[in-house]
Formats: sequence, C-alpha cells, structure tokens
Amino acid sequence: MGSVRFPMAPSTVPRALRDAFLTDAPLVPLVHDATVVASDGTRKFRFRTHDDRFIETVLIPDDKQERSKLTLCISCQVGCAWGCSFCATATIGFGRDLSAGEMVEQLYWVMENVGQKPTNIVFMGMGEPLHNLDQVTRALSIIEHPWGAGLSPRRLTVSTSGVVTGIDLLAKVRPLPNLAVSLNATTDEVRDQLMPVNRRWNLAALLAAARRFPLGHHRRITFEYVLFAGVNDSDVDAARLPRLLQGIPSKVNLIPWNPVPGLPFERPSEARVITFQNRVRRADLPVYIRTPRGDDQAAACGQLAARADETPPRLINLRSTRHVS
Ligand code: SAH
Ligand code: SF4
Repeated sequence: MGSVRFPMAPSTVPRALRDAFLTDAPLVPLVHDATVVASDGTRKFRFRTHDDRFIETVLIPDDKQERSKLTLCISCQVGCAWGCSFCATATIGFGRDLSAGEMVEQLYWVMENVGQKPTNIVFMGMGEPLHNLDQVTRALSIIEHPWGAGLSPRRLTVSTSGVVTGIDLLAKVRPLPNLAVSLNATTDEVRDQLMPVNRRWNLAALLAAARRFPLGHHRRITFEYVLFAGVNDSDVDAARLPRLLQGIPSKVNLIPWNPVPGLPFERPSEARVITFQNRVRRADLPVYIRTPRGDDQAAACGQLAARADETPPRLINLRSTRHVS
C-alpha cells in the first residue's frame, strides 16, 4: 500500500470499512515519486497511485517566453488500450482508468509544489481521455470551477485518437473544452497501420464526427499530425491533408515523431518537416510545427511510459538530489 495510510487510523472503524475507504476514496490520491528536468525547462513528474501504479505528468513552459504560457499535460489512464504502433504509452498496455481525483491531483500537486499555476491544461499524457470520459468530465468541471482551479474552458484541451462515440458525447459537455484529434495519416491504409482505432472508426467516420462537433466563436479543432519519415510525410500527404479537413474550422500541429526505443520509425529531417508545412500552408490552413519539448528526458509527446517495475536512471529522486523550484 506504499505510504498511503488511513490518516486517523481509528481502531473503532471496522477494518473492512477502512479497506473500502482506501480502495474507493483514497485520501492521498497520488504520491509524488520523482522529477526530471529536461534541458529546455520541461519537467516530468512521476506519481505513484494508491494501488502502486505509476503515471507521468509534464509541465511545459512557453518556448518563446513571449507570454507566460505554462502548459500542464495530464494523464487520464495508467497506460493505454489503443495500441498505436508509434507511442510509448501503448507499449505498457492498459492498466486502469484514473479517477477524476487522480487527474485533478496532478494539477494541484504542481500548483502547490512548483508554486505556479498552469495557464493551459491538455489531456495529452498517458491514456485516451474519451475512453474514460466520465472521469475526465468530472475532472474538467473541478478544474474549471471557481472553487477548484478556476481555469477557463478555453484553456482546456482534450485530445483523442479518434473515438467517435466519445467525440459525440464530449460535444454535449458544458462548458465545452477544446478538442484535439490525433489524425496522423491521410489514408485509411496508413492510419490502420499506425492507429488500430481507425479499424473501428475510419477517417470518414472520424472527420464526420469532427464536422458535427459544436464550435463556439473563434474556435477550431486542432488536428495533431505526427510526422514519420517515409510513412506519412510525402508531398501527396501534404496535398491531401487540407482536402480532408475542408469545411472544418481547423488548425494543424505537425509533431516530428519523438523516438521511442524499439519502435521502427524515424523522425523526418528538419527540411522535410518545413517543406511539408509550407505545402499544407498553401491551402490557407493554419499549420504549426510543434518543436519537441523535453525529449532529452523522454518527457515529450508520446514518450510517457512510467512502469511500476522499473526505476529508470533518468528519473531523479527529488528527496535525495534536488528540489523543484
Ligand atoms: N490518447 C490521446 C492523447 C494522448 S497521446 C491521443 O492519442 O490523442 C497525445 C499525442 O501524442 C497524440 O497526438 C499522439 O499522436 C502523440 N504521440 C504519441 N506518440 C508520439 C511520439 N512518439 N512522438 C510524437 N507524438 C506522439
Ligand atoms: Fe493511446 Fe494516444 Fe498513445 Fe494511441 S497515441 S496509444 S491513443 S496514448
């Protein structure tokens, strides 16, 4: 049970009830375990859950330092069930859903221990948020509430690999968070290979769900497009991408693939990434390159894979070496 204890240890409370408390309503939802700081200032925190599992949360300062943007990337599951062939989280399989409390605690722990309040929250850590929508929705409402963290829903983003039934349910949530869709391919043939979710809901079904997703004024759906050398980074892909998104208020984030040991992909050259961006831009679609953040400490997109059975040397134990400030 680690360091999570029933705080009052009242011997008058029957043991079965105490055990039920620990299982159903852990009073310390997460125990901070370790922190790594990447060279670009990105910090990755590892937490242990009450049932001795591990999750990771990433705090990303603004790379341009123009504004004081501080993004927190939250995990919503231990591992992930969707098995995308390029993602580190997929390699650990599915453990369990996180509770809303465990999601919110990732934010509260950072606010209390780092001493800064994130300006933006993205559900882009470990797990598929629309596969745990009930708890994600509860977490969103706490994060938004003035008695909670008081963040505007415009600053909250839920990212999905393409769980269409979940997109339709998220569309009914109020206030509505931003939606990000991990597109990652322009044909079903390639997407089927990269993301098994596509065999359940293909590109046509996914884009139809995106089209019917309600958007307020000035809002767009973000399409994440991870670039893999020789797989989805051709000029033909760059021409097809804007055509697929026609009619959907969109912006595209290009993410050069972040290496995961053992996975058979390569990041395209910088020149290829820029050419791809320029070709997509010709179609008047806002398209940005997401510079990998925290990748020297496996803290970048898709590199989160905290395992219960390992203490990676790259994780620095806060208590013995350094403090987050
Ligand atoms: N399950 C959700 C949210 C978590 S993944 C989803 O798939 O959208 C967050 C983002 O990281 C997704 O856009 C995913 O395509 C991307 N990603 C996964 N592995 C990656 C890797 N190795 N390099 C770069 N991006 C990756
Ligand atoms: Fe899961 Fe998202 Fe990784 Fe796919 S990319 S395995 S859906 S976390």
